[in-house]
Amino acid sequence: MKKRVFSGARPTGRQHIGNYLGAIQNYVELQKDYQCVYCIVDLHALTTLQGSEAVDQIQQNVREMILDWLAAGLDPKQSILFVQSQVPEVTELQTLLSMSTPLSWLMRVPTFKEKVKMQPENVNYGLLGYPVLMTADIVLYKAEVVPVGEDQVPHLELAREIVRRFNGLYGDTFPEPQPKLTHAPMILGIDGVQKMSKQLDNHIELAATPEETARRIMTAFTDPARKRKGDPGHPEVCNIHHLHEAFQPEKAREIAPQCRNAEIGCVECKKLLAGEINEALAPLRERRRELATRPRYIREVLGDGAERARAIARVTMEEVRERMGLVARETG
Ligand code: SF4
Repeated sequence: MKKRVFSGARPTGRQHIGNYLGAIQNYVELQKDYQCVYCIVDLHALTTLQGSEAVDQIQQNVREMILDWLAAGLDPKQSILFVQSQVPEVTELQTLLSMSTPLSWLMRVPTFKEKVKMQPENVNYGLLGYPVLMTADIVLYKAEVVPVGEDQVPHLELAREIVRRFNGLYGDTFPEPQPKLTHAPMILGIDGVQKMSKQLDNHIELAATPEETARRIMTAFTDPARKRKGDPGHPEVCNIHHLHEAFQPEKAREIAPQCRNAEIGCVECKKLLAGEINEALAPLRERRRELATRPRYIREVLGDGAERARAIARVTMEEVRERMGLVARETG
């Protein structure tokens, strides 16, 4: 039997090529070898979005995101695709896990401290409890494997600690989720400095038109040493080169010496990249356009995913309640 993988992503709306190269492609690959449970974690979004912002954005973002996931090759026949809040058992499990999670473990989490600095006007209880909800997300489905980047390993380690503590108190209930390190490249935005992000507006959407894609790439920063076409470049410090590597490694190998010898200008190099990206994403964009005309199908995919996820969740919660003494044990 295939091992079960769980991964969750916040509903951030239209996905960009950083999401695609860093996570979505990997999600698609994992479908071959694992039973995959992929969740759009809308409850987590509420730790940062509030009030009318949340009401206006969440549904729209979920819809845009699932369109990109499906268009990129996530297959609802193979994987369980659903929205977190459609399986309310997850919040019950979060509450129960929180009873055995020391407060000190949560208060030392670096991302909590960062969020306190970033949104001092909204340091809510959900922010502190975020790692417990994340643990509930994973163990509700008894997932054994969680794909993570190097930087997320400490988060998963905390989830493993929460699981160990629970299992120690109530008996072996959950598998300790193992990290599956993904070697996703860190994709910088068109500013060439920071990680590609919608918030920073340095991104290129998967669903962008070819013209928009080219326009965004033409504004991208390159090697600052190349002020004129005749200046030799350093492709290793240029984000355009890294994107060539991600989309067409052979082209990247061909261009690198031309850049170093000043035989190619940045404008030409960017045009080539825009062509590569547009060619690579053309089938995805076509599928996305087609899926966008079928809102009923999209609702069915998410509805069916939530049903399948709930079926697993109900069994887990029956076991958890019994282990914690919340229901009478069968005495025969
Ligand atoms: Fe970057 Fe290409 Fe310009 Fe070299 S030629 S600096 S790789 S954009």
